[in-house]
Amino acid sequence: MRTVNAIAATSATDPLVRTTIERRDLGARDVLIEIRYAGICHSDIHTVRSEWGPVAYPLTVGHEIVGRVAEVGPDVTRHAVGERVGVGCMVNSCRECEACRDGQEQYCTGGNTMTYAGVDRDGTVTQGGYSTHVVVDEDFVLRVPEAIPYEAAAPLLCAGITTYSPLRHWKAGPGSKVAVVGLGGLGHMAVKIAAALGAEVTVLSQTLNKKDDGLAFGAEHYYATGDKATFQALQNTFDLIINTVSAPIKMSSYLRLLRLDGVFVTVGAPPQPLEVPAFALINSRRSFAGSNIGGIAETQEMLDFCAERGIAPEVEVIGADAVNEAYERVLASDVRYRFVIDVDTLR
Ligand code: NAP
Ligand code: ZN
Ligand code: ZN
Repeated sequence: MRTVNAIAATSATDPLVRTTIERRDLGARDVLIEIRYAGICHSDIHTVRSEWGPVAYPLTVGHEIVGRVAEVGPDVTRHAVGERVGVGCMVNSCRECEACRDGQEQYCTGGNTMTYAGVDRDGTVTQGGYSTHVVVDEDFVLRVPEAIPYEAAAPLLCAGITTYSPLRHWKAGPGSKVAVVGLGGLGHMAVKIAAALGAEVTVLSQTLNKKDDGLAFGAEHYYATGDKATFQALQNTFDLIINTVSAPIKMSSYLRLLRLDGVFVTVGAPPQPLEVPAFALINSRRSFAGSNIGGIAETQEMLDFCAERGIAPEVEVIGADAVNEAYERVLASDVRYRFVIDVDTLR
């Protein structure tokens, strides 16, 4: 075992504190990563506040992890010491079920292991990336191209892949009209990636405060959802709506923005239900879907795509002691557009 510095939640209501956690000894196929940056995802906040159900405290969260390989186990072949690597939301899966065999480990039915608050193969509760080091099976470690600015790379491991995967699955591209609801961590990546794929992108944000940014990220249109006229003006418009909002929204209003055969995909995961009136789907044969992060191979594809296309998240780098304040700003939709912890401030 190795004791490393970390930040942890001790309850659903207390501020996060500095602490130490244990990392397992390196197994034959394990990689020891010296973490350099860790992104703050809204899922971290839902989790530490027990909004998605009870979790065991103390808990270290963080599943947007970037750093360098410090050591490898004797049987590791995919990664070498010194390489820049990343870890996202999963650190293992059953590897046998249909989804795993198909490279879609995020839909593993045999039980995958999430990066934090999951139960690891040895029975311990996994601890996430707000820490100086992590030990991960080499198959769940991604190569992070050096072309991506180091401090901006971490959010790709969740916000990037979570938006890339549904955009690819539902074939966003030239000729398709895509709306992105919520311009936060996931939302701003959805805009950048959908625009890079060639889609005509519209942002649906609560206000017009971030309009200049949204257009700079590649959107062609930008509307305020606080204005009722928006829902009138955009009826029957979109082929695909990607919802990134962390709170419940009025589904009937949004579904009516889809054209014939349009698809509303939620990646936003509010603890409360999203209520769908039948007729909002029946009229215009619309679909309501969800999407969970992305598989390991697809995550690598997304990282390479972003490096090649010069796409990177917009980040605000903070020290370890600013995490609680950052959480409050995320909750107030005051994030431009992802907080990233400089893990050197934890050493
Ligand atoms: P975030 O940075 O807080 O962004 C969410 C955005 O939603 C806000 O910036 C805001 O955008 C909008 N919003 C917030 N509260 C709202 C409300 N009450 N009504 C309308 N709009 C509101 O969060 P994130 O990190 O992008 O995560 C978003 C959601 O996705 C979370 O629920 C998270 O758990 C989930 N998630 C899911 C997956 C998955 O695999 N499915 C992966 C990662 C995260 P505007 O200011 O532009 O309105
Ligand atoms: Zn996340
Ligand atoms: Zn599986």
